[in-house]
Parts: sequence; C-alpha cells; structure tokens
Amino acid sequence: MTTRSTELLRVVHHTPGVTRADAARLLGVGTGAATELVTKLSRASLLVQAPAAPSGSRGRPTTVLLPHPEGPVVLAVAITHEAWRVDVVELGGATAASRSGRHASTGWDEVRATVTAAIAEVISGFGDRPRAVGVSVPGTVSRSLRLDASTAGWHDVDLTALWPAADVFVAGNDATLAATAESRRGAAVGAAVALHLRIEAGLGGAVVEGGRPTIGALGAAGEFGHMPFGDPSVRCPCGAPGCWGTAVDGTALARLLSEPPPRDPVTYARRVIATARAEPQSAELTAVQEVGAALGRGMAGLVNGLDVDLVTLGGLGVDLLAAVPDAINTAYRDGLMLIHRASPPPVLPATLGDDEGPIAGAAEEAWAALLPQLT
Ligand SMILES: [Zn+2]
Repeated sequence: MTTRSTELLRVVHHTPGVTRADAARLLGVGTGAATELVTKLSRASLLVQAPAAPSGSRGRPTTVLLPHPEGPVVLAVAITHEAWRVDVVELGGATAASRSGRHASTGWDEVRATVTAAIAEVISGFGDRPRAVGVSVPGTVSRSLRLDASTAGWHDVDLTALWPAADVFVAGNDATLAATAESRRGAAVGAAVALHLRIEAGLGGAVVEGGRPTIGALGAAGEFGHMPFGDPSVRCPCGAPGCWGTAVDGTALARLLSEPPPRDPVTYARRVIATARAEPQSAELTAVQEVGAALGRGMAGLVNGLDVDLVTLGGLGVDLLAAVPDAINTAYRDGLMLIHRASPPPVLPATLGDDEGPIAGAAEEAWAALLPQLT
C-alpha cells in the first residue's frame, strides 16, 4: 500500500470524522487525488464516507471519513501485578469490546492461560478482523518481546505466547506506553518533546519525541526514579544510594512521618495525601510538601538535561500536583536553567487515567505497527 494511503488511515485514526477536504489538506494532495485514495480504501473495507452533520452554513455538502464498521481491529492487553484487561480497539481508538479480571494466581503460567482464554473469548464475535495485538506489562520488554518484571517474579517470559496467531505483535513497559498514549491522545498532543513521569511504587516514565518514545537499547529506558536526585543516605531497593524514586513515593512519606515502610506504598501515599489536603496544619502536609519539592527539583533537572517542552505527571503525580502545586512549582522553577525560566515548560496532570494510559498506549502501538501493512 502506498505511503499516502497509510497516511490517510493515520489521519482518520487520529481524527475519526475528519472531513475529506481537511484530510486532503493534511496530506498535501488535491481533491481529486484524495477522492481516489478514499475510494480505494473504502473498497478495501478500511474507511467509509458519510455526510457530515448539517452545520447550518450554506454551500456544498461535506463528506467525513470514518473507520469501516467491518474493518480491521487490534487487541490491546494490559497486565499489571494484580489484574488484566483485554480490549478490542477500532481504527480511531474506540473500544468495541472489553474483558477484565484479577489474577487468581500471580504465577506467569496461570496469568498467561487466563489472558489467552480471555483473548479467545473477546475476539470470538469479530471473525478475521483482529489483526494485531499490543501488550502493556509492568516490566522491561526486550526487542525479542521477552518480559522481565522482577517485582512480579516474571523472568524472561515469551510474551508472544499470549496470542501466537497474531500477525503483528508489539509490547512495552506500562509507563512508556502511558507516555505514548499521553502524546497521541492526551495532554501532550502537539508537544515536540514531552516528558511523562508516572509515580506508583517507584517512578518511571518516558521521553516522547514526535510521538515516538525512547525505549533504549535494552527496552529499559525511562527509569528516572533511579537517577541520584534523592538523599544519598537512603539506599534504594535497586542497590544504589540516593535514588530519586525513594524521595517521591510512599516510602519517602513514611520515612518523613517516622513510620515503618508501608506494605502497599501507593495506597499509603494516597491516604497521606488525602490527610494532607484535609488538615492544613498536619505533619502529613509538611511531608507531602517535602516530597513535592523533591519531585519539582528532579523535574527541573530533567528539563535542563532533555530540553522538553512539556511535562505530564501520572499516577501519584496527579494527586501530588493537586495537593501541593506550589511546593512542586516553586522547586521546579528554582531548579530550571535561566534559558528555561522565562517560559518554563508547563507541568500538567496526565489526562488518561492510571487504568487507561497503558492500555491506550498498547492500542496505539499496535495500530502504528499495523497501519503500514493494511492493503
Ligand atoms: Zn534505585
């Protein structure tokens, strides 16, 4: 298929309902060429044309482009430490079907069997339409699609065993995929270079340039939580001293409040942040402000080093930004090099929720890999 056909599918995927005239402008082709492309893609059951809703203005009726109702779909799979979800996603990003559940057992063989059965069930009504799969996992994914998720105890597992029949199989780290989704469909749309940081049990994220995340040679890029922006006297579970993640997560709050390390640092952090918001004089607020300052200082360091034009915060970062925006922003602005201070890159909460970002990113990567192969 020609590059222009792929480009047109990309436009409709990004903006389903785009007018034929706007699509032609975005592709830089004339109306005749656009009509020809649309006709070809309609015959291939990839697009349909529909009359636009009347706008009230006079003039020629407008035609909009929509995904074909019988066209290809992708599977998006999100696996976390506790749960799984499988979505069927149409061109344009709409979810056509979904299944989800919690792991009965966290051994990889059981997880794989459950997810494979869910995939078979969810695609049963879709005939031969499912053409690709994208998988989000809580660990690093090698270029040969092997997963290592040490905290879950999943080592060197072959992800393609989840759906061996897939023509197109892509997989990635959940924080990286959340960053991708934020750049394609969330708060970072239009950013040239975006930094997404996701605080959960630890801090990860990705740099996304022109819609593409930097994944690294081993697929392990984005471990920003292990940069030495923290207290050098605190040793991180990774083995290194002073990791930034240990200064901004639930363990940091517990340390500041002289409490033992929490068993579930995310739930603990949410509880402390809620108390801080409710009680202005509390020790909790002081602790959350200190964590917010550590977050802002590190963000400034990354902005100085990477020259991004936007920072988005996900996970607990959303809660921190809502609770202590001044503490975060003061430390952030103070840490910026002079060249960035006149107009500091904005710091925004992620618009895709914790449950939506990684699976949306998995769907986006599956579509990005599939589109050039459609004929
Ligand atoms: Zn570390």
